[in-house]
Amino acid sequence: MTDPAHDPAPWAYETAAVQTAIPRGLGETIGFPIHAAAAFQFDTLEEAQEEFQVNGGLSYARLQNPTVRALETRVSALEGGAATVAVASGQAATLTSILSVCRAGDHVVSAASLFGGTTGMLTNILPLMGITATLVDGTPDAIRGAMRETTRLVWAEMISNPAGDVPDIAALADVAHGHGALLAIDNTCGGVGYLCRPLEHGADIVSQSLTKWAGGHGSVMGGSVTVGTRHDLSRTPIYTDGGEQSLLRVRGEHALAWRQRWLGAHQIGMTLAPHSAFLIAQGLETLALRVSRESATALALAQWLQAHPRVGKVSYPGLPDHRFHANAARQLPRGQGAVLTFEVPDPSAFLARVRVLRIAPNLGDVRTLVVHPWTTTHGRVPEAARHAAGVTPTTIRMSVGVEDLADLQADIEQAL
Ligand SMILES: *Cc1c(COP(=O)(O)O)cnc(C)c1O
Repeated sequence: MTDPAHDPAPWAYETAAVQTAIPRGLGETIGFPIHAAAAFQFDTLEEAQEEFQVNGGLSYARLQNPTVRALETRVSALEGGAATVAVASGQAATLTSILSVCRAGDHVVSAASLFGGTTGMLTNILPLMGITATLVDGTPDAIRGAMRETTRLVWAEMISNPAGDVPDIAALADVAHGHGALLAIDNTCGGVGYLCRPLEHGADIVSQSLTKWAGGHGSVMGGSVTVGTRHDLSRTPIYTDGGEQSLLRVRGEHALAWRQRWLGAHQIGMTLAPHSAFLIAQGLETLALRVSRESATALALAQWLQAHPRVGKVSYPGLPDHRFHANAARQLPRGQGAVLTFEVPDPSAFLARVRVLRIAPNLGDVRTLVVHPWTTTHGRVPEAARHAAGVTPTTIRMSVGVEDLADLQADIEQAL
């Protein structure tokens, strides 16, 4: 079986992506074995008791499964983190991340430019549990201005979906930590640490959808929450209440990761299936190749679209005129991602004509996907929030795949 401790530490991203958590030894698979199991057996009462003490020990597969564990080890390596819990979707990761530090009466400050599901979580679901959120512009000043006594978490997306906002992670970390809060970054568009490793810039929690670039082929759903070792929970009541029996005392440096697994997998049951974990782990093996090519194609398309007479505003953080270009250039040296938006005169006619481009509400597929966010992904978001997220009635969002650049340009040209 896989022993994460056997994996030598500092590999380059591309090496870690294919080598981490692969078993060694005679007859072992080159790749992850899929453990299709709901439960694991014990030889004795004492063994069972011992495993049950360990949250995430191998007892019942809602808590932990060797295939899922191997994926978690790989995600930790790629994000430069200490521990990861994999869950069933990006939404499940968002919920796990927020509930790991917030409870009724607590407050979240988030950058407003967000994936629609995250806006929904912050404004519709968490208030049901007494957790409120303030959504503001993603600059450090705006975030600082929204901080309250009860703020436990600051949230932002690394390359926001779809506006392409790029937060200054170190500056947001300073704001959060100055208030005793933690910083969580949704790194879905940061390519599982390939384009950006938020923990290395000072973030405390990396939450992401593994459905997008990790899976990479539009074939599987998943999410993950990764933490490092430098977070300070001394001002987070969930961890400090209870004196000697507090979570922080009992679990020490593992408290945050322990609670995330306990919440997301063990208690709420948003467990990732082993077959899904296998597909995602396999997707991660080619992520670096895909994302570097997709980023280069996205930049070329953004420049070409910007010069096109029938195209309105083009938004891509790799373009010098993007509001967050300086943050992008500094924090995303390998490329500014595969997502761009552009305005077309008639979105309905444009989408009816595309042939290479596929209309689908996903990101990170090997195929180039387009969508009209106003009527789909952001259709249920209030209008003002849609504009704050960079979505107008004529916006097209494109997630660039690995196809040939000239074929993509020809398809867009005829559709325009
Ligand atoms: C898609 C997405 C999510 C949600 O992930 P699912 O796997 O669809 O649940 C969260 N954040 C961002 C930035 C996303 O793009």
